[in-house]
Amino acid sequence: MRLSVHDIRDEGLALEFVEPAANFPVLAELQERRECRFPEPLRVTLRIQPASGMFEVSGRIETCVETPCSRCLKPTLVVLDTSFELTYVRELPEIEGEEDEDGREISAEEMGLVLLQGDEIDLREVVQEQVVLAMPFHPLCAPSCRGLCPRCGADLNNEKCRCAPTDFSLKFAALKDLKIDK
Ligand SMILES: [Zn+2]
Ligand SMILES: [Zn+2]
Repeated sequence: MRLSVHDIRDEGLALEFVEPAANFPVLAELQERRECRFPEPLRVTLRIQPASGMFEVSGRIETCVETPCSRCLKPTLVVLDTSFELTYVRELPEIEGEEDEDGREISAEEMGLVLLQGDEIDLREVVQEQVVLAMPFHPLCAPSCRGLCPRCGADLNNEKCRCAPTDFSLKFAALKDLKIDK
């Protein structure tokens, strides 16, 4: 899945493929470590367009991932549908002084700029990175998931444990009274 930039004609290139996550080393490793599972193959559409010495790569990846609920750890299926745009450049431009609305400096990466290594674009690399970026940070089996009891580990969706439910509020009350010496 390495694409030589010399094979990209002026009118650009469109690619479409369906491949199992196991064909992508980073995703395969996530599965081997049992951090998540990709029960369906990745459906990928890509478009590569040359533009004055640069190459614009845009695409869409659809699949789903089974990952533990961040509260109760139950395996949870999350649909992934991500679109992206990257620009491969020979040289990263000086972007000092470029700031976003919050006055933060924007990095080349945030602008979607990627330094072209040699004459090849590694599409496998692109796809797996985009999948990782699209993975949910805090997947939930249901928005109302009550999670596990932090004391006894009981799944509070299924049972009420015997731990005092006021534990949390007591802790907060104690925190409120904390005085921090400077
Ligand atoms: Zn849950
Ligand atoms: Zn408990």
